[in-house]
Amino acid sequence: MVKAEGVCKRFGRLEVLKGIDLEVQPGEVMCVIGPSGSGKSTFLRCINHLEKVDAGRLYVDGELVGYRQKGDKLHELRENEVTHKRREIGMVFQRFNLFPHKTALENLTEAPTQVLGESKASARERATALLAEVGLADKAGSYPRQLSGGQQQRVAIARALAMRPKLMLFDEPTSALDPELVGDVLEVMRQLAKDGMTMVVVTHEMEFAREVADTVVFMDGGVVVEAGPPERVIRDPQHERTKAFLSRVL
Ligand code: ATP
Ligand code: MG
Repeated sequence: MVKAEGVCKRFGRLEVLKGIDLEVQPGEVMCVIGPSGSGKSTFLRCINHLEKVDAGRLYVDGELVGYRQKGDKLHELRENEVTHKRREIGMVFQRFNLFPHKTALENLTEAPTQVLGESKASARERATALLAEVGLADKAGSYPRQLSGGQQQRVAIARALAMRPKLMLFDEPTSALDPELVGDVLEVMRQLAKDGMTMVVVTHEMEFAREVADTVVFMDGGVVVEAGPPERVIRDPQHERTKAFLSRVL
């Protein structure tokens, strides 16, 4: 579903990604861990067409991100083509970015009706079902400011799912939450993983990574230091940098 081959990204003179090689199979969950500034968010943003890759190749669902191939020539995607591609990917950020003047239900129906052209009735029906799935059936009429951070984050997940994405990206979805609100959000993500969603999750929740991830990736300084099943990378890291990082977060 996602394949990165030598992905490089720089901001001016700062090399942020220095040749990332990774692969996420359909239905797999990859958790990305690593210190601040290691390039985790930048990598997610590249997958989601929010940043342009400078070198290397990045594929989502077999298609090269940012380009269209014609014969053996590559053409950069136009803005409207990028917008179209981005719809297939759901993204949830650290900070809840719900529409503040819309109810939870309206937050979920907005894009499906405006962008996908779904009928209001079917969008509402699906939104209601999704809110129930994230445990918020009774909050359909609430505005974001009337919801806790954890509830807002669950609405944000449901809103992303309303677009029927083939891939979900999470960038530290629980790190802005009060500790007692984290569990409900992780539970929704755990269920999503069980249902077979392909997910790339940047997180500091090691217990979640250990339980849910098929692959854990440790990034540091713009490179993948090590990647593998959680029982190896988290329990039995091979590299000193991974060991040092884990000793600080575990
Ligand atoms: P954190 O755990 O703090 O979220 P991260 O691993 O997600 O860190 P990134 O946000 O990917 O790290 O940032 C990697 C580096 O790239 C940082 O040094 C950051 O300052 C820099 N950077 C990120 N975005 C930009 C930008 N738009 N312009 C310039 N530098 C940037
Ligand atoms: Mg980040």
